[in-house]
Amino acid sequence: MQQQRFDLVLRGGHVADPANGTDAVCDLGLRQGKIARVAERIDDELADDVIDVAGKVVMPGHIDTHAHLSGPFDQSGTRAYGHVMLAESGTTTALDLAGEPGALAEGMKRKGAGMNVATILGLVPHLTVKEDDPSVATMRDTVADALDGGAIGVKLLGGYHPFTPESTSQVIAAANEQLAWVAFHVGSKDSGSDLNGLREVPEITGNGRLHVAHINSYCRGLVENNLAECDEAFEILESKRSQFVTEAYLAQVNGTNGKCDEDGNLIYNVAQNCMRARGYATTDAGMRQALLDGYGGALTERGGRIVIVTGEEAVRIWEEKSTDASLSFPVNPATSAFSLTTAKYDDGEFKVDAISTDGGSLPRNVAIERTMALVRFGALSLMEAATKLTYTPSRMLGLINKGHFSEGADGDVTVIDSESGKAAMSFVNGEPIMINGRVVGSGGTWLVKQEGEKAAAASGLPYEIIDLEQSKLYAGWQ
Ligand SMILES: [Zn+2]
Repeated sequence: MQQQRFDLVLRGGHVADPANGTDAVCDLGLRQGKIARVAERIDDELADDVIDVAGKVVMPGHIDTHAHLSGPFDQSGTRAYGHVMLAESGTTTALDLAGEPGALAEGMKRKGAGMNVATILGLVPHLTVKEDDPSVATMRDTVADALDGGAIGVKLLGGYHPFTPESTSQVIAAANEQLAWVAFHVGSKDSGSDLNGLREVPEITGNGRLHVAHINSYCRGLVENNLAECDEAFEILESKRSQFVTEAYLAQVNGTNGKCDEDGNLIYNVAQNCMRARGYATTDAGMRQALLDGYGGALTERGGRIVIVTGEEAVRIWEEKSTDASLSFPVNPATSAFSLTTAKYDDGEFKVDAISTDGGSLPRNVAIERTMALVRFGALSLMEAATKLTYTPSRMLGLINKGHFSEGADGDVTVIDSESGKAAMSFVNGEPIMINGRVVGSGGTWLVKQEGEKAAAASGLPYEIIDLEQSKLYAGWQ
């Protein structure tokens, strides 16, 4: 019998594959873009190429369930820088969580890094949805159009463009009806982007299904002590355990916008909260002082990446954009991140499904690095790290061929340097997209629902149709 050959063998890494219970030094063989074998030893003679990954961790590719790669308010295409930034950190698949499908496809063609990417449409009144507090009928059309355009769902931007609780409920119902993804940065016109916003979510969701975006953002100590907020967040998640999926990101810095109205008051709730957290006024004067003091920074493009600059340079950028500038503040307590990332139910499942970046074009793509720091600290095992970085995210999105190394699974792999905790290389469909921190991939595969097939085909990009009926979000949904 002729022995099977491999296009590539990753030799001697520590393979972490929770779905198959593999937690050992092994060789990983890939063939025709798929996982072909995990074995103690694969002969050199059977491989067309061998890469020595001894001393490194080899896990199924990181699936980021909260990234930013396009956006309805991103006319200049700044967010497209996120492809390279995310791929540099080891991610292979991303959900662009408040995007615009046309902009995503364009960005992926021009600046893509070879990742698999799905997007959901950010709901901005009078820009992507025709009315403030959209009605059921409007939302049905908006969701249907978003799916046709190649998005897999919609995002409620409660921290920036909140709707009434009633309208928010209708958005969720309209998305659920069409088995569309629906994510909620919490906050309504009655609450804010904080624990009070989260407290409304069970009632707003009713019997529906919802991705509660970045649960850590409501545990910043604005309403109660931050660890008490984590405990309450857990109770809320548990009360809707079969209806919610959620993720937390591990960066200290957030992302916000410093836009002020004619009277010099900060418009957005998230930016106001950043000022309140350190006792600054929620005005242009407060913001100017906060930036000058180096408390936060402004985002700007440099060398094909988005970076954060501080002090007078930050003020200058904010003023040049007439205050409508992307800013960032260190408002995420490490103790909340730790609690939210490690907490489990009695049955052993994690209370927070996944570790995300909330990055991409926001320079905080630290999911892998910080998760590995928790492994070194002893707070997570390597298998638990792989569970939260890739296996559970694959289940969340219904990407059944990803997140594991079963024979025939997609050849998506992230290789991590055990010492630095940083990704050393990554592969999508068996092809390298990043080597030693340098992106070598381009373009990307657009993940769409069936409804989006025409748009995806017209884009000229490779695409795959995903089935959200297989997703954890819609598990058991009638
Ligand atoms: Zn986000």
